Amino acid sequence: MSAITLRELTKVYPNGVRALDALDLEIADGEFFALLGPSGCGKTTLLRTIAGLELASGGTVRIGERAVTNLPPGQRDVAMVFQDYALFPHMTVRDNIAYPLRIKKVGKAARQDKAAATADELGLSTLLERRPGQLSGGQQQRVALARAMACHPKVFLLDEPLSNLDARLRLEARTFLKRLQRELGVTTVFVTHDQAEALALADRIAVMEGGRIRQVGTPTEVFRRPANTFVAGFIGSTPMNLVPARVDGDALTLAGVRLPVPEDARGQLADGETVIYGVRPEYLDYSPEPVPDALTGQVVVVENLGSFSLVSLDVPAEDDTATSVQVVVPEGREPDPGDTGWVVPRPGRSLVYRDGELVGGPTAPPVPAPRTGVGAEA
Ligand code: ADP
Ligand code: MG
Repeated sequence: MSAITLRELTKVYPNGVRALDALDLEIADGEFFALLGPSGCGKTTLLRTIAGLELASGGTVRIGERAVTNLPPGQRDVAMVFQDYALFPHMTVRDNIAYPLRIKKVGKAARQDKAAATADELGLSTLLERRPGQLSGGQQQRVALARAMACHPKVFLLDEPLSNLDARLRLEARTFLKRLQRELGVTTVFVTHDQAEALALADRIAVMEGGRIRQVGTPTEVFRRPANTFVAGFIGSTPMNLVPARVDGDALTLAGVRLPVPEDARGQLADGETVIYGVRPEYLDYSPEPVPDALTGQVVVVENLGSFSLVSLDVPAEDDTATSVQVVVPEGREPDPGDTGWVVPRPGRSLVYRDGELVGGPTAPPVPAPRTGVGAEA
């Protein structure tokens, strides 16, 4: 068993920065888990505190059955891959991969064999005698992974391991990493600031802000039902529209248009209160002709994103201000700036927030059973 359990984990640096703030989290054995959040939210600190490279200021870390909060890194049975790979430039690939085994006092022949076998699994066998400077970024990244794998750790900790690769290589490395993790079945915590990477790779994601966790869920859950407006704005390739609306009986009024209240928010809203109405640009339909129950406004910007465009409209609100609404329009049907357009939300796709927290939204689809005994959400 190598689940990871964090209880009220706190890290305050000597300069007073509270990088982790009483954080609770459970990562299941064998899970591929992503820590996602903007720069400076505490992802690296959290990973280093799990590894033992930073000592917690408060709270506890358990790996499997063991409390490791005060153990040095060498006794935690974890391997970390750093953002810059941190390979030894003067050593060959073989010696780089074998290095942690040397630290563990494994005999020379055994560690050379182990390094060669691990290199083989990662497609590096022909590169064993090269030095890091003679490798591409993608190859260096694989050597760093191989070095982490060679000791058969119970936990892999990866800090933005793909961020130094160019876009195309990053996609390739992403697929490779996902397959490798599936095959090895080792509990893996993966740090990224890239929401698309987290959605693509992880079994579950923790979205972090300011040293705290704002939501934990599967990619489907955090995409469909962001628990607060922070997650709503952070997850998704185009940010969610978040627009003030007034509760009016069993409907929401927004720029003079009545829109249905999401089913599971009914009965939880007070007549006349102002809430935030959320809908993703992908779940709005654009029409160049008037349609009933549509928000209408003037097209301001059209951004070509390949197979579709992101269209921004200024929708006049009751108080004479204009609200910007973005909608995804398929290729070939883009309007021009200055056109008048109508947008209609698709049924069952909108959300309501009050004071930044989710009141109701789409009812999440059944969550598939996790691969390895992930318990119910804490
Ligand atoms: P992330 O990896 O999400 O970008 P970090 O964990 O690196 O975030 O940093 C979290 C916060 O802690 C930031 O405000 C950062 O400036 C601060 N911080 C990180 N490392 C140190 C350190 N060694 N000393 C003081 N402050 C630090
Ligand atoms: Mg970092």
